[in-house]
Amino acid sequence: MSRPDLPTPQLWTFHGGLHLPDEKALSSDQPIELLPLPPLLIIPLRQHIGAPARPGVRVGDQVGKGQVIGTADGYVSAAVHASSSGTVIAIEERLIPHPSGLPAPCVVIATDGQDAWAPLPAPLTDYRHLDPALLRERVHWAGVVGLGGGAFPTSVKLRSERHIETLIINGAECEPYITCDDRLMRERSVQVLEGARIIRTLLGAERVLIGIEDNKPAAIAALSAALADTGPDTHIRIIPVPTLYPSGGERQLIRILTGREVPTRGLPAQIGVACQNVATTAAVADAVLLGRPLIARVVTVTGRAVARPGNLTVPIGTPLSHLLAYCGGFREVPRRLLCGGPMMGFTLSDLEIPVTKAFNCLLALTAAEAPDPGPALACIRCGRCAEVCPVRLLPQQLYWHARAKAFDRAQAYNLFDCIECGCCAQVCPSHIPLVQYYRFAKNAVWAQEEERRKADQARARHQARQARQARLEQERQSKLRKKREILDETTAAAVPGGVADGDLDARRALIEAAKQRAAAKKAAAQSSTEPVDQG
Ligand code: SF4
Ligand code: SF4
Repeated sequence: MSRPDLPTPQLWTFHGGLHLPDEKALSSDQPIELLPLPPLLIIPLRQHIGAPARPGVRVGDQVGKGQVIGTADGYVSAAVHASSSGTVIAIEERLIPHPSGLPAPCVVIATDGQDAWAPLPAPLTDYRHLDPALLRERVHWAGVVGLGGGAFPTSVKLRSERHIETLIINGAECEPYITCDDRLMRERSVQVLEGARIIRTLLGAERVLIGIEDNKPAAIAALSAALADTGPDTHIRIIPVPTLYPSGGERQLIRILTGREVPTRGLPAQIGVACQNVATTAAVADAVLLGRPLIARVVTVTGRAVARPGNLTVPIGTPLSHLLAYCGGFREVPRRLLCGGPMMGFTLSDLEIPVTKAFNCLLALTAAEAPDPGPALACIRCGRCAEVCPVRLLPQQLYWHARAKAFDRAQAYNLFDCIECGCCAQVCPSHIPLVQYYRFAKNAVWAQEEERRKADQARARHQARQARQARLEQERQSKLRKKREILDETTAAAVPGGVADGDLDARRALIEAAKQRAAAKKAAAQSSTEPVDQG
């Protein structure tokens, strides 16, 4: 709650949204437990938006907990670290949690059970008086990325060139079933606040608004108590927001707390706002105040198909089978197994897939929780999808254009503003899997852009090769010309009056004579240096 001496902040609403059964009671009362170490860690080199990390270890290497095993490759990239000590037994493609279902390069570590830390950098407890560049560098080293699902490298978000007036800490956690942020706010409220203070210092923000849906009273109380305990801080407000899906969407929460709209395809920084998830904020505190990299995260394991739902601190790279075994396995065969919540999550195909930095929930739904919607029917143009869209899009039009592969038209209807919240599909009486169409269209556009980029690169390479060949040919011609000029000068010196250009026989005779003179000179030089036979 906001401090009693401060006025109650005004709240705004966003268009559409849905009141959904939150299903959080399954796991919200389960305190965070530390998952025992798995025998094998599978750590993907790409767990973030941007370029994959470059492997920094080789098969057979011994690694310590927290050691960098993949370095950030470029500006928008993030380092990855060993989540425990052990031996690197493979660097190879493995299945990772991704909607594409495709494998990606991973470092596979056989843990040694010691869980021994590698040397870590010193804590930066005096962060208020340090160079911001040093703090950003620490966050970059720690491989912190957006833990709310976006996985964008946090150090890049902390480098705004625009003035940031408001820092929003996102504790809304609006997806049904997921409770990891709720438990984190209750159990690590001091770290969340410290992280918020560090980020505020880095961005120079005037105020921090921590937005939490009002269905999490315990988290609101814990953060409020921690704020009161850590001394007066007039910059930070804890603000309960009405429970309405998807209030945890970045743009929706910014709208609720500030009344401002992020421009289409724009960034929050354009309206003076930065937004960070609560778990990301705690990870920033760990990196700066403890010198610890991001090697573990809290994951909710839930759904009625799970024997004992709960919240676990999981080393990054732990296979999902290990989490499930800890939670007692399946109570019944799940109808759907998801990474994330039922609205924005995606289907998992394999239980040996590892937990990554953005993996917040393993959801196993029974047939009763995820009934078969039956075949999709024709769109009846009822318009209900548009009524609930929190971005004010026209989902029906997007669907038509995506289905017809008219991707330009879909983009004209702001396809890329769609946050894939699933509200439209949830209310569609024809059970059309609308979000699948939008994902398909986005992937197709990205693939086209990638093709175009590759073609541009190939064209640039071809033009550079042609230019190089032309330059080499020019240099060769120039050398030949010079040789000919020297020869002409020599000839002119040897034959008073010179040789006419066309008199090739005379020219050849002169060259032959010059060669013979050079050979005779060489022979004379050799004979004078040969040893004399004393016989
Ligand atoms: S809700 Fe479904 S049926 Fe209704 S207009 Fe949208 S896509 Fe068509
Ligand atoms: S999935 Fe996209 S189109 Fe559908 S309601 Fe959400 S933002 Fe709107």
